[in-house]
Amino acid sequence: MKTRVAKFGGTSVGSLERIRATAERLKHLHAESRVVAVVSAMAGETDRLLALGREVYPGISAAADREMDALVSTGESVCAALLALALQSSGVPACSFTAHQFRMSTDGRFTRARIRSVDGLPLAAALAEGKVCVVTGFQGTDERGNLATLGRGGSDTSAVAIAIALEADCCEIYKDVDGVFTCDPRMVSAASMIQRLSYQEMMELASTGSKVLQIRSVELAMKHGVPLVVRSSFNNKPGTLICEMNDNLEQPLVTALSHDLNQAKVSLSGLPASPESLSVVLEPLARDDISVDFITQNVGADGLMSITFSVEDKLVDRAVLSLHSHLPEGPNPQVERGLAKVTAVGIGMRNHAGVAHRVFSSLTNSNIPIHMALSTEIKVSCLIPAARCQDALQVLHEAFFGTGAC
Ligand code: ASP
Ligand code: MG
Repeated sequence: MKTRVAKFGGTSVGSLERIRATAERLKHLHAESRVVAVVSAMAGETDRLLALGREVYPGISAAADREMDALVSTGESVCAALLALALQSSGVPACSFTAHQFRMSTDGRFTRARIRSVDGLPLAAALAEGKVCVVTGFQGTDERGNLATLGRGGSDTSAVAIAIALEADCCEIYKDVDGVFTCDPRMVSAASMIQRLSYQEMMELASTGSKVLQIRSVELAMKHGVPLVVRSSFNNKPGTLICEMNDNLEQPLVTALSHDLNQAKVSLSGLPASPESLSVVLEPLARDDISVDFITQNVGADGLMSITFSVEDKLVDRAVLSLHSHLPEGPNPQVERGLAKVTAVGIGMRNHAGVAHRVFSSLTNSNIPIHMALSTEIKVSCLIPAARCQDALQVLHEAFFGTGAC
């Protein structure tokens, strides 16, 4: 008999009605396989708990992070118990497990813990007794038994780690969308569902703005070769399969587009035109744990160097502070906010030239200014004004997926 891990996101367990519907689905899955259900908190619950915690303690401290994790992880515990009860009430033997019980061990980095190990034995024993295991996502325990959470969206990663520990045949991620789309359908109505894509493509999409899966879950699935299926808990459509794909010769050049509306850029000019300037500027940011994305350097006619980099909008104030405090004599950083990053991803690009050119010309033909650009083996990203993001996605979707696209 197959073993499957089925993870249910917040909207799939967002009300008692949805929990009952999920129990009904699990009843069918249980008839044909051994099932471990991994749950998120009910929709909105993690945000509600975070807001409560922040109201009581608005500051930041390591001691407070520990309590915030103790607080927010309850959302998953409540949900696991409710789903197990719903299963029992429809006649399915079921048992809930929290992180202590199924032994999800993490490091002690509260609010962003990383998984160390999952002991599959307690779950395997319950499966052998014919039970559906209902397991909390998102939470783990550190070596002292403290609750620690895996960061927002961490239940996806819990599900993959459990699938690995149990050597499950597949890991299904049930959501409120039918699968992974060629573009966010709220931005481009012509977007269509993708049947199959590679781990690498999904990782690029997740790291450039797609919210479909937590990037760490894809990374982990790729490392261990666990096939992932993203599908809807609201219908029976087969969803999108994410797996290793070697037969990429026939792949389309671009598999999907992603976007991220919260980008900003920071420029410094008047720097000495020496090879060290770049590392002098980037060092303080690295020290303060601020990741930069696009980076360009340029020596002007005046013989001085300017450096421009992009960061997430929410990090821009910290980046400027970091530059000021570590380079008090340095030039004044100029900040531009309100930018977006649009990205075209596809392993088909590996074997074909010209995708970057097509991206740039499609945008410039529509008078969309490109602030910065970046291209790697399987992606092309552009930084553009956020106000033009939807236009850009529509133009690019038409260019790569529209009628007449090749
Ligand atoms: N409940 C957590 C969150 O909202 C974890 C998850 O759903 O994956 O981020
Ligand atoms: Mg999620």
